Amino acid sequence: MSYYTEKKVATSHKQDLKVKKQLEITDFTAFSRKELEDMVVGLQSDNEQLKQKEDDKILELKANLEAVIENTDDFIVSVTTSYRILVCNNAYRWLIHELYGVDPKSGDHILGMMDPQTQAFWHPYYEKAFAGQAALTIVNREIQGTEKFYEVTFHPITRANGQTDGATIFIKDITDRKVVEDTIRENQKMLASINRNIKEGIYRSTPKEGLIYVNKAYLDMFGYEKKEEMYSLDVSQLYADPEVYKDTVELLLSGGEINNEEIVYARKDGSHFYGMMSSQVWNDEEGNSYYDGAIRDMTEIIETKHQLREQNEELRKVNAELDRFVYSTSHDLRAPLMSISGLISISKMVDDTEKQMYYYSLMEQSITKLDNFIQDIINFSRNARTEIEIKAIQPKELIQHCQEDLQFASQYEHIRFQIETGEVDTVYSDEKRLSVILKNLLANAARYHDLEKEDPYILVQVHKKENAFQLVVKDNGQGIQPKVIDKIFDMFYRGSNQSKGTGLGLYIAKEAIEKMGGKIWVESALGEGSTFFVEIPQSLQIEAAS
Ligand code: ADP
Repeated sequence: MSYYTEKKVATSHKQDLKVKKQLEITDFTAFSRKELEDMVVGLQSDNEQLKQKEDDKILELKANLEAVIENTDDFIVSVTTSYRILVCNNAYRWLIHELYGVDPKSGDHILGMMDPQTQAFWHPYYEKAFAGQAALTIVNREIQGTEKFYEVTFHPITRANGQTDGATIFIKDITDRKVVEDTIRENQKMLASINRNIKEGIYRSTPKEGLIYVNKAYLDMFGYEKKEEMYSLDVSQLYADPEVYKDTVELLLSGGEINNEEIVYARKDGSHFYGMMSSQVWNDEEGNSYYDGAIRDMTEIIETKHQLREQNEELRKVNAELDRFVYSTSHDLRAPLMSISGLISISKMVDDTEKQMYYYSLMEQSITKLDNFIQDIINFSRNARTEIEIKAIQPKELIQHCQEDLQFASQYEHIRFQIETGEVDTVYSDEKRLSVILKNLLANAARYHDLEKEDPYILVQVHKKENAFQLVVKDNGQGIQPKVIDKIFDMFYRGSNQSKGTGLGLYIAKEAIEKMGGKIWVESALGEGSTFFVEIPQSLQIEAAS
């Protein structure tokens, strides 16, 4: 047993009652429930007068009303203020029998058939009715194994002089209504929960009013806090391109529907996001049109798509590099080994120490070449595998350091070396990568020099740029032929047969520069010299270093 609700119902029916008594009533179906209730209450309250007057008309009315009481679906009982049953209908008798296993009769105590707990529950309602106030409550009971809900209304029986003689209780089976109400409430709860938790932005708009409903995901997607804020918007503002909005509305109004259309939307802060939208028009009976739709934020998926494309591109590049790498390394590793092996065979055959020494020096060259090659491979692999490590670097010192490392190259002693760092005493960059880049550029500038020139030089400059720094390595050496200049940064590309390098130097430099978000380019004139420019951004790197 549970108690649901209690409402006060307005009491006075006296006015209506007088009017009804003067009517000749034959068709009771023409009366509303309220009117019937009033008549029943009236029948009780004017009982004494009825007896006195013995009026035929009124007796007929009484008979008819009793017939109504019997034929109605409601359970009806009237009691005196001393809790004695005055009159009750068959439906009530049946109900009491089902509930308490007794058959109530006129004169029985209405609470006498109930257990003390039930008595205690009903007692206050009777007291209230006897005090002249109507009351209403809803209870549930198990009848024949099913849960039933009843609306119980207490009407006081009040005489013309205001005295209350008793009460009439109307009990109505509202189980069906309750089930419908509960289902609606459950559905509403479920819908509210779905609308709150669903990731899709759900909305309803009308051509005239704009948005009239949005869920939480919709608000979040567009960066708004309050629904009302969105309801007062011009919907086209939510589109990155208002033309797209126009087309969408036109399509919907011409009876079309939109299915999973990718649309760029604008957030409150002006930023854009990709949404997948589905929408259709719904027309109600009064001819009003509604656009109902859902939007899914696709930003993450589209970003992942882009990321995937980039990764694929990288993979493709790595695969192509690997092919070339295997092909070239097998040649570049074998060539110096074969040459060393040949030189060993020859030197075994000669006794002349001077000749032997010459062969040894040739062997040494092959070994150096092999070592350079392996060093280049290590640098290449390191660039690909290791993360960028930013720190403050003094460029002048780094350049000097790289130059010293290269000093052993024989051409160096004939080349004038000049460093100009101007005001740039610190740059923020990855020292290991920067030194690989510098060494490769310096080694090339020395290797491809023209010692016939009057003043062979290598000039290294450092310039400050907006959010970046620039390295310039300039020589007045052989220069590069225009037809090959586009290829010199390719893997294993050697510009001429004279190249004693691995063909990896500039490729490695370019890879390292790009990894740091920078770029490299060259200006060159054949016979006059070459200038290599390297630009590396710094803004992010300063943040990373600090
Ligand atoms: P290599 O090992 O052949 O030097 P690199 O990748 O370092 O490989 O350079 C590729 C080619 O670019 C070289 O073979 C050479 O023809 C040309 N090159 C690079 N630097 C210079 C320079 N400073 N002057 C002239 N040519 C250069």
